Amino acid sequence: MSKIIYADNAATTAMDDEVLEIYRDLITNYYGNSSQPYSFVRQNKIKLKEAREIIAKCINADPDEIFFTSGGTESNNWAIKCAGEQNKKKIITSEIEHHSILNSCEFMQSNGYQIELLSVNKNGIISKDDLINKLDENTKLVSVMMANNEVGTLEPIKELCEIAHRKNVIFHSDAVQALGHIKIDVKELGIDLLSASAHKFNGPKGIGFLYIKKDTKIYPFHDGGKQEKGLRAGTEDVASIFSMAIALKNNCDNVQQNTKKLLLLENIITSYLNKESIDYIKNGDIHHIPGNISLSFKNVSGEMLLHRLDLKGIMVSTGSACDGMDDQVSHVIKALNVPTEYITGTIRISLSKKNTEEEAKIIAKAIVEILKK
Ligand code: PLP
Repeated sequence: MSKIIYADNAATTAMDDEVLEIYRDLITNYYGNSSQPYSFVRQNKIKLKEAREIIAKCINADPDEIFFTSGGTESNNWAIKCAGEQNKKKIITSEIEHHSILNSCEFMQSNGYQIELLSVNKNGIISKDDLINKLDENTKLVSVMMANNEVGTLEPIKELCEIAHRKNVIFHSDAVQALGHIKIDVKELGIDLLSASAHKFNGPKGIGFLYIKKDTKIYPFHDGGKQEKGLRAGTEDVASIFSMAIALKNNCDNVQQNTKKLLLLENIITSYLNKESIDYIKNGDIHHIPGNISLSFKNVSGEMLLHRLDLKGIMVSTGSACDGMDDQVSHVIKALNVPTEYITGTIRISLSKKNTEEEAKIIAKAIVEILKK
C-alpha cells in the first residue's frame, strides 16, 4: 500500500504495534472458551481479570464495575434501553449525540417514551439550564456525550451529572471519543454509566465496555449465558478485551504528552491557513479533544475537498464517519448554526499521536493548494 497520511482518527485508529503483538498471541494461543472449567482456559480467566483491573484503574472505577461489550454502539444502546427505573417514561439526551444514542432514543419513543433533546450553543456546549428545565419526576435517564465526535467539544459532564442527581436521575455519558484522549475519573465526575470503544484509542475493533457504577439500576441487553455477572451474555473475546486494556493504559499513561503534541499539530495547520488568508471557521470549543479540528470553508464543498485530499493520499472526513456516505449536512453542524455560506464546506481533520509535524504541514499545504485552484 502506498504511503498515506491518515487524519481520520475520530473515525478509527490504527492499533498500537505492542497491542497488535499481544492480540496475535492471545488470539492464536488463548482460543478456549473462558467459561469452561478445564486448565486450558485458566490463563484466559487471568487475562480477563487483569484487563478489568487495568481498565478500572485508568478511569478510577472498581474492576467489578467494568462490563465488556462489542463497542460503543452496544454500550450506548444498552444504557438508553435498559438503565433507570422502567416505570419512568422520559429520556433526556442532546441534539448532537452519536446515532447509536439518537436512534436508540427513537426506538424508545416508538415504545411510548418521551424523548427530550438538549440544545447546544454555537460551540457545541450543552445548555445546563435546558437540562434543569427538562428534568422532572418522570425522567428515567440523562445521557450526554463527553466529547462530540464531529467537532470535538468537551461537555460540562460533572455539572450536568450533578443537576441530574439532584432529581435522583441516572446519568450516562458516551465517552467513546474522549477515553484515552483526556483524563477521565468516573468517581470525580460522579457519573453512573460510561460507554467506551477500543478502536478509538488504538485498540481492536468490535470491543468496548460499559462502566456501571455499583448499585445502578440496569437490566441485561443480551439474554443468554452468565458472562459478565449475568448482565452481558456471550463468549468473551479474551484477545480483544486484553488488547483493549493495554491500548487504553498506553494512551492514559501518555495523555499529557500526546495532548501537547496534538495541540502543536493543530496549530501548524490553522496557522498556515491563516497565513494564506483562507476564509474558514473553526468549529467547536476551545475545550476540545486534542487533535480534532472541524473546519468550515466559505463557499466550498466539503465532499470535493475530501476527494481532492484523498487523491493526494490524505484521509479526512466530512462529518462523522458513520455519516461519511451521506452528503447531507450533519445534524451536529446544523445544531451549531454554522453560517450558510460555510456549512457545506465542512471537513474534520482528526490527528493522532502517530501523526507528525511534517504530515500536519503537508495537510495544510494541500488544503491551501486545492482551495486556491
Ligand atoms: N459514540 C461516538 C461518540 C462515536 O464517535 C462512535 C463511533 O464513531 C460510537 C459511539 C460508536 O462506537 P463503535 O464504533 O464502537 O460502535
